[in-house]
Amino acid sequence: MALPKINVPTFEMTIPSTEQKVTYRPFLVKEEKILLMALEGKDETETARALKQIISNCCIDDIDIDKLAPFDLEYFFLLLRAKSIGETIELTYKCQNKKGKTNCDNVIKFSVDIDAVAVTKNPKHTNKIDITDTIGIMMKYPALETIVNTNFDTENVDDILDVIINCMESIFDNDSVYKMRDTDRSETKEFLEGLTQTQFIKIREFFNTMPKVAYKETIECDKCKKGNEIEIEGMQNFFR
Ligand SMILES: [Zn+2]
Repeated sequence: MALPKINVPTFEMTIPSTEQKVTYRPFLVKEEKILLMALEGKDETETARALKQIISNCCIDDIDIDKLAPFDLEYFFLLLRAKSIGETIELTYKCQNKKGKTNCDNVIKFSVDIDAVAVTKNPKHTNKIDITDTIGIMMKYPALETIVNTNFDTENVDDILDVIINCMESIFDNDSVYKMRDTDRSETKEFLEGLTQTQFIKIREFFNTMPKVAYKETIECDKCKKGNEIEIEGMQNFFR
């Protein structure tokens, strides 16, 4: 005899980058297993892959998971976590207020309401980067794997160029669009190496201003009674 089927509740969310409305269900024991296995492995590429697997399992509408921006996936995962495990995340923060010459350093416990986490968009952010009056670059978002694997603060120029090339969609001028997938990687690298510092900074701005999941709050220290303005950015920082 077939066992009874359990109805799973569904919820709606808006994908930040495309504003597409999708329906999803919480993650179930089978997805939690995927996540736990990935987290145990401590391999970030595997964790990123597991997150994508879980999101595509739980999203009832058709989505192309590989086309989603990293902040879409991070935001989606936080919502999924809220509906699956709990609406709040417990975190701690070391009080930064001064007490005489030293810091207060009291460890404050606080909880983040996942509903209050949002994807912040910088109005200056754009995918279209004007290099000169006639030449520009269209950028695309890095894969979640890149985000977790790359330290964007790295000063190694080759590493930075690699990340940038992976995120370039095309180069354009008045006459043509040069798709990166049809262009030799070494040629693209040469193009980037020929830029001035000012032009290069414009590309780095694309990454610096990229939308991110963020949470802001002022929490009061229970010891010194003063407020701490905290800002949590990026999914990993919600799960420390
Ligand atoms: Zn304090």
